[in-house]
Amino acid sequence: MNKITTLNIFVTGKCNFSCSHCSAINSMDVGLDSKHDCRNILKFYKLFNNCKTLSFTGGEPTLLIDELRRTVCELKKFNNDIKFSLLTNGSFGKSIESTAEMLNGLYLSSLQVSYDRFHSGYLSKTYLKNIKQYCEQSKIEFHVAVCISSPEDLIFMSELESEIGIQCKYQILLPKYKNKHFEGGARLF
Ligand code: SF4
Repeated sequence: MNKITTLNIFVTGKCNFSCSHCSAINSMDVGLDSKHDCRNILKFYKLFNNCKTLSFTGGEPTLLIDELRRTVCELKKFNNDIKFSLLTNGSFGKSIESTAEMLNGLYLSSLQVSYDRFHSGYLSKTYLKNIKQYCEQSKIEFHVAVCISSPEDLIFMSELESEIGIQCKYQILLPKYKNKHFEGGARLF
């Protein structure tokens, strides 16, 4: 088996947004909720032969910020070279200070904020600017994760890309479907 370089940790299915295309909606009850879970992550990390990066996703991972900090702290005691990454909706980015308050102590090397026309009803672009600025100051790699479902979405995001100077990673969003494995919502490829 090839060496795994990044381990994604699904921190929680809960979120403070309610995007219409959300694929985490069926996982509301899944996630970390105790010190025991932190220790399990450490076990997984060892099992996967010390992969280089741990990426925290959700739902919105920062809803469990205390658990995240505790997990990062445990892992750093074991291996100080491990890199941490976070996929978030950026709801803490009201100012650079509020961003620092949320993210300091996570020792992030990269951060991705989900933003597109689905998220834009919840988050103003000022939040993106603040988070970007915090990342630049803290030398954290910063990207925006974008779902595209129409050519207009692409135009909307490319204008934002040039206005704020952000780098985007695009995903195509296919139409809503239902089957026995997946009811409701939409699926990302
Ligand atoms: S921010 Fe992300 S996790 Fe939260 S509702 Fe929107 S798509 Fe789902």
